[in-house]
Amino acid sequence: MIELSHIVKRFGEAVILNDISLTFPEGSVTALVGPSGGGKSTLLRSINLLELPSSGSVQVGDDRVEFAPDRKAPWTAIQKIRCETGMVFQNFQLFPHRTAIENVMEGLLVVQKWPREKARARAVELLTKVGMAHKADAWPANLSGGQQQRVAIARALAPSPKVLLCDEPTSALDPELAGEVVDVLSKLASEGTTMVMATHDLRLASRIANQVVFLEAGQVVEQGSADQIFRDPQRERTRRFVSSIS
Ligand code: ATP
Ligand code: MG
Repeated sequence: MIELSHIVKRFGEAVILNDISLTFPEGSVTALVGPSGGGKSTLLRSINLLELPSSGSVQVGDDRVEFAPDRKAPWTAIQKIRCETGMVFQNFQLFPHRTAIENVMEGLLVVQKWPREKARARAVELLTKVGMAHKADAWPANLSGGQQQRVAIARALAPSPKVLLCDEPTSALDPELAGEVVDVLSKLASEGTTMVMATHDLRLASRIANQVVFLEAGQVVEQGSADQIFRDPQRERTRRFVSSIS
């Protein structure tokens, strides 16, 4: 289980996340939706501690880190949570001078210190899962956006993270290539992968999310099942947002 308690994130004077408490049960898929600038990416980056919250606590599995303005959070605990989370970005961010399989192996070799053959076997397994085993030796520049994103998903899953975080995983892709990525994410969801994703794609959200969180101005306006939020939103603000983009 992943739990955020009373997360506040400030950049200078600005409060970007304002007292966010959310629970992401094991095996659940959560979609973070809402207007641009609402704090979706910052919230994702606060789960993997790429951004350190100003206050509040982050729990991933049995590891919990508390943040307070007057106290430094322990570095080893931060590193541990970083290793337990995998992240996929809008623009894939594969290493350009590594082949697809080397991209997937990289973290296993460098961070986890796995022997090369074991890392290669794990990478082949994951590339097969995302339908990319036939392109294992291709360079990122020679792959389509959808193929690059599938390799990026395999790379994020390589160290068996407790949660897969996805920041707009399909928004740089045309609809057909986005469909390939949605199929992979949907398969991972059905296999019980815990996921939290920021997305503007309400079709993606309603297809795979069991929890939808509507964020605006750093606050949770409404949360519920995909059906509740998209078909029967309770707040006027959520209703306007949903009708404006569907
Ligand atoms: P989008 O839908 O456009 O991706 P978002 O919901 O992901 O938006 P964030 O990127 O989390 O929103 O940004 C939330 C707010 O935090 C914005 O007002 C943004 O300008 C601000 N912000 C984000 N990163 C920083 C930073 N490093 N320094 C200062 N302000 C930041
Ligand atoms: Mg964002």
